[in-house]
Amino acid sequence: MAPRASGRENGSRGLSRSSDAKTGAKTGRSVPPSGLGRAVPSDIPLARRSRPAPTGRPSLASRFRWTLLGSLLVGALSAGLVLGPLRPWLAPPPVAGLNARLSSDGRLLGHLPYPEALADSLVSFAPGLELRAEAASALAAMRRAAAADGVNLSVISAFRSLDLQRHLFFDVGAERNQSPQDRARVSAPPGFSEHSTGFAVDLADGGRPDTNLSTSFETTPAFSWLSANAARFHFLLSFPKHNRQGVSYEPWHWRYEGSTEALRLFEPAHRLIGSPP
Ligand SMILES: [Zn+2]
Repeated sequence: MAPRASGRENGSRGLSRSSDAKTGAKTGRSVPPSGLGRAVPSDIPLARRSRPAPTGRPSLASRFRWTLLGSLLVGALSAGLVLGPLRPWLAPPPVAGLNARLSSDGRLLGHLPYPEALADSLVSFAPGLELRAEAASALAAMRRAAAADGVNLSVISAFRSLDLQRHLFFDVGAERNQSPQDRARVSAPPGFSEHSTGFAVDLADGGRPDTNLSTSFETTPAFSWLSANAARFHFLLSFPKHNRQGVSYEPWHWRYEGSTEALRLFEPAHRLIGSPP
């Protein structure tokens, strides 16, 4: 279709124009926009020489672009809001053989995920027992202090590899006729045990072996001594009674937090203190 102004007297009238265009209409030649330095044919309305005159309303294409962009934005936000909480349920179970999913804060049946300590970061402090070097020396100092007070603080378990934790969780659970869900109340699934970090120990009272790995350990002199003194050696009880992490009470299980790396690893556990069990 021909431009609206083409049928007019000199082709340069009929559209809104600048003062330069008005000057051009009088002379029959258009006056170039300032800076161009040469005349251009006057049969093209000035307002159309570079692009259509703005109408003040967005074009259809422009409106379509913004609508599309808006829809994409709303879609992405909705997908994030809906899929975010569903993600743990859409992913495969994190531990093969255990029909349980991660909670929104990354816990599995109450247990937080932990990496396995590198072999060269561990030291052996007794036959079959390894810890991170800094935890091992703090534990040795704590046991000496306990002995000086007449308390026989013994160690049942320390670092556990993922393989050992897998065995304890599945094989020992099967021997005891426990379902994985029941087993998780007394043992962390592999990949979710503080023992894997090399900073956690299970302690016992050498004079009361009947209380080993039992809540009755809380009645022993060793537990009383630990409650009063362990913090001096940077050990703390990981799972006290009614802990907000939702793990069973384990008076025998203590973890070391006397190094930057240990603090960083156990920081998520401390954050849970502010959330419901
Ligand atoms: Zn333990």
